[in-house]
Amino acid sequence: MKKLAFIKRSNGRHWVGDGFPVQSIFSYRDIHEEMSPFLLMDYAGPTSFEPTDKRRGVGQHPHRGFETVTIVYDGEVTHHDSANGGGTIGAGDVQWMTAGAGILHEEYHSADYAQRGGPFEMIQLWVNLPARDKMAAPSYQGITDAQIPRVELPGNAGTARIIAGEYMGAKGVTHTFSPMNVWDMRLKAGSSFSVELPEGHTTALFILRGAVRIGDTHMIRPSELAVLERHGTRLAFDATEGTILLLLNGTPLNEPIIGYGPFVMNSWDEITQAIEDLNNGRFGTIASSS
Ligand code: MN
Repeated sequence: MKKLAFIKRSNGRHWVGDGFPVQSIFSYRDIHEEMSPFLLMDYAGPTSFEPTDKRRGVGQHPHRGFETVTIVYDGEVTHHDSANGGGTIGAGDVQWMTAGAGILHEEYHSADYAQRGGPFEMIQLWVNLPARDKMAAPSYQGITDAQIPRVELPGNAGTARIIAGEYMGAKGVTHTFSPMNVWDMRLKAGSSFSVELPEGHTTALFILRGAVRIGDTHMIRPSELAVLERHGTRLAFDATEGTILLLLNGTPLNEPIIGYGPFVMNSWDEITQAIEDLNNGRFGTIASSS
């Protein structure tokens, strides 16, 4: 049985641009070996925006060496990038963007959502790329709610949406560069869940609503990340209330991480190269930017 290693709480709140009031749940700057291949998690909301005609969000900025994954629970975000990727995602949808060798992108509230206002809640995860794939061609996967397999949990415990990975024969459509599971789970009050996961994998639960108990005593509550020990293959927990959580699981990469702003590479030489490439226009341009 996997034991709780520790609970990670937010490092504090800040705004990303003027559209994303986030809690920084973890980053490779505070825990990276424990969370590999996951580099960072920002939790935006839950909050609410008033209707506006303004464009709220974050303008053009670069990334290299990893993937940004945006999971929308409420609200809508529109994305454009220099690899001609783009689209609007809403509640239940996921954007899985591979920055790879380098991308410029912008992330704004959709025009419709901005005019309408209302509840807003999203997670942005940064997922590391293995050293061999850090310079992969940039790409964009817009994954709609309808494309994400939904599995009924055993014992009428609730549901899991398989954003990436596989559970009970349901395979997520997302392409990933290393093995991982990213599941949006909804558990009923008083339910129990357990699953076999590969030995030695990173495993963590981020709670959005409700409460989860691991073992006899450890309670995990909203905005908390429960990080499990690598050792052991059976993950088991109880939802003591109606619960929404994100399960993260994957093969640790065990490679050096050197991060500088929007770049996450394996060496300082590669960071220097990224800055030089950005300054020389090698990240392209956003054609649809306005
Ligand atoms: Mn970004």
